[in-house]
Amino acid sequence: MSLLTLSGLTARYGASQALFGVDLEVGAGEVVALMGRNGMGKTTTVKSICRMIPSEGRLAFDGRDLHALPSHRAARLGIGLVPEGRRCFADLTVAENLLAAARPGAWDMDAVTAFLPRLGERRHQRAASLSGGEQQMLAIGRALMTNPRLLILDEATEGLAPIIRQEIWSVIGRLKRETGMAILLIDKSLRELRQVSDRAVILVRGKTVWSGAMDTLTADVSERHVGV
Ligand code: ATP
Repeated sequence: MSLLTLSGLTARYGASQALFGVDLEVGAGEVVALMGRNGMGKTTTVKSICRMIPSEGRLAFDGRDLHALPSHRAARLGIGLVPEGRRCFADLTVAENLLAAARPGAWDMDAVTAFLPRLGERRHQRAASLSGGEQQMLAIGRALMTNPRLLILDEATEGLAPIIRQEIWSVIGRLKRETGMAILLIDKSLRELRQVSDRAVILVRGKTVWSGAMDTLTADVSERHVGV
């Protein structure tokens, strides 16, 4: 059964409609890439899933209609977000940032710092003093502390040096192999997305135009709709 289901999802910012019919499924343990050129609605889809903006259509998580739940309840169902731009509390330490996100479950401070040792080494440092890559690790650690069943990463490698991007991809690969967590990924690097993702969904102007197994995504389709 699919863990996350979007069907015919629409969303708007005030008078301007941004999503016109997004169809997307993520199964338990599956890694799905959400792709499309800039401005096609990827982040808006993520905000809709996390109930940060209103949407219409079918939006279900683990068989529950998310639109029927108050948004704070939806967040507790187990959707962990690593948002675009990281957004950690700059004035809090690494440990305080992690604890602020904590929800009961196997991912506690010890488990997260064992999985991401750099966070353990930096636990008493303020988030503002971390490098870009370390802040991204902290954003991932914070999402893990919520004990998600689905982890959403929105441009987690953006703005980082190539070697640091590789570290983030390696963390994503370990999450897939070692935890079997369901993951929804947005990223500009097609090569890395291809390596880690089971399936892909492509948006054009707020609508799903292609979805399928990653190994069936041809260069022709991805060049036409994603631009790479
Ligand atoms: P990117 O790769 O650039 O982040 P995206 O695929 O994530 O692109 P969205 O950010 O979801 O695209 O944007 C989809 C559409 O919604 C765009 O036309 C964008 O201009 C519009 N949009 C996004 N955020 C807002 C907002 N806060 N208010 C009004 N319109 C918005």
